[in-house]
Amino acid sequence: MKTLCAWCKTEMVAGENRADEPISHGICAACAQEILHLEREPLRTFLGRFHGPVLLVDADGRVITANQEGYAALRKAPEKTDGNLGGDVINCTHARKPGGCGKTVHCKTCTIRLSVNDTLLTGRAHVKVPAYMDLYQITGETTVRFLITTEKVGDTVLLRIDEAKPEDKE
Ligand SMILES: [Zn+2]
Repeated sequence: MKTLCAWCKTEMVAGENRADEPISHGICAACAQEILHLEREPLRTFLGRFHGPVLLVDADGRVITANQEGYAALRKAPEKTDGNLGGDVINCTHARKPGGCGKTVHCKTCTIRLSVNDTLLTGRAHVKVPAYMDLYQITGETTVRFLITTEKVGDTVLLRIDEAKPEDKE
């Protein structure tokens, strides 16, 4: 059976990743190497090779950088995204509360935060996890159902938005 890198879609060679590395599947060694060693600007260009909106997130839940599809999906300019907390970047309603993103009572049950943290802690990737987020928009508050994929690379997490759909209101 062929294994494809979930990020660049190239075929992965069996045993490519060292056994003692927590990254066991999903990302090929070439992608992981690039992410670990590139500066922000070439990193952004590199992430552009990936299909779909991809963000690189640090342990605090801050977006390090993203690809063009990522900025488009967030409807945010790079300068309003890079270095900012995830909740502020996606317009999470809870991120506006005292303490901010990561410090409110709601953050303990935030699926995106939990998935990123678990991936960092265990090295396990999470694939297409449903996450319901309350976002504020010009038109008011909307609940958006995301499907997210997380993959650990060094001390950071690659976060892909596989789907983002506003919930139908009855
Ligand atoms: Zn790859």
